[in-house]
Amino acid sequence: MSEDIVGFVGLGNMGKPMASRLVAAGFRVIVHDRAQAPVDEVVKLGAKQASSAEEVASEAELVLVSLPTPDIVQDVVFGNNGLLSGGKLRVFVDLSTTGPKAEVSIAERLLEKGVITIDCPVSGGVSSAQKGTLALMASGPSNTFREIEPILAVLGKIFYCGNKAGQGQTLKLANNLMSAAALAVSAEAIAMGVKAGLDPTVMIEVINASSGRNSATQDKFPRAIIPRTFDFGFATGLSYKDARLCVEEAETLGVPMVVGSAVREMLAITQSMYGADSDFTSIARVVETWAGVEIGKLAS
Ligand code: NAD
Repeated sequence: MSEDIVGFVGLGNMGKPMASRLVAAGFRVIVHDRAQAPVDEVVKLGAKQASSAEEVASEAELVLVSLPTPDIVQDVVFGNNGLLSGGKLRVFVDLSTTGPKAEVSIAERLLEKGVITIDCPVSGGVSSAQKGTLALMASGPSNTFREIEPILAVLGKIFYCGNKAGQGQTLKLANNLMSAAALAVSAEAIAMGVKAGLDPTVMIEVINASSGRNSATQDKFPRAIIPRTFDFGFATGLSYKDARLCVEEAETLGVPMVVGSAVREMLAITQSMYGADSDFTSIARVVETWAGVEIGKLAS
């Protein structure tokens, strides 16, 4: 496969830093996003601009995408002016959290056209995307995976999860449900402490030295909840999508998810109160409203 030029579609919170890293690593990159501003930024760094996904795949055999939802991924691949119309596509890498059901269907449809799919959802958030320290959960045919491994290595640490399409997606859904659960239950526990008169900063410090520590107490509370910026960089709508996909997959597999369903509902409520575009750390604001406290402040 010619790796002369790498295609990249979707330059959002995650896609823009990932595409920028590929440019900085010396790859020739052709990019597309329906929004112009992030395209301009990556083009300034040296990428080539394409006016559609089709145009990306008229030049690149390897195309990576980082897009919000399964429907959008499917549209970008199979829709009007989509990647398949470009003619050159040989390997499709989905960095989005698309879920195993849609990913398997995409991989089967693409294989009929001679295109290999590697699903490769990522974890680590915007700062890891910028630093190239994401966790990448790749699955798909191992020979194709080996071919593209040096490109993926620019983005972070790669874990090969299996040769079947969707396996990386299943692992990613498990991870994200656990991450959202940690955020929700930490918000409840810390709101309780604040209402009892504890300083939230002290609580976080103690919990991070104790067995309750998790990704929310170590990162989200100090960075986006206690300073009340609520700008961690992951949208409530996307986190809700992930929890929904996870609980649906568990139901398909016959795995009960009592806690998972509660987390999904907390995200549904956060979305209805603060909107799909709000940051998912807003889940703490829902708990605050119900509890009548503000986590960033000492209770008076
Ligand atoms: P985002 O909404 O910030 O970015 C998505 C980008 O896709 C936007 O720039 C948007 O303009 C573009 N886009 C949407 N529809 C398009 C179309 N039809 N054609 C071309 N471009 C289109 O989302 P994000 O936070 O970057 O997340 C991307 C994916 O990565 C999601 O699946 C998400 O679940 C996953 N993810 C996000 C994070 C995070 O912390 N933000 C972490 C890990 C995984």
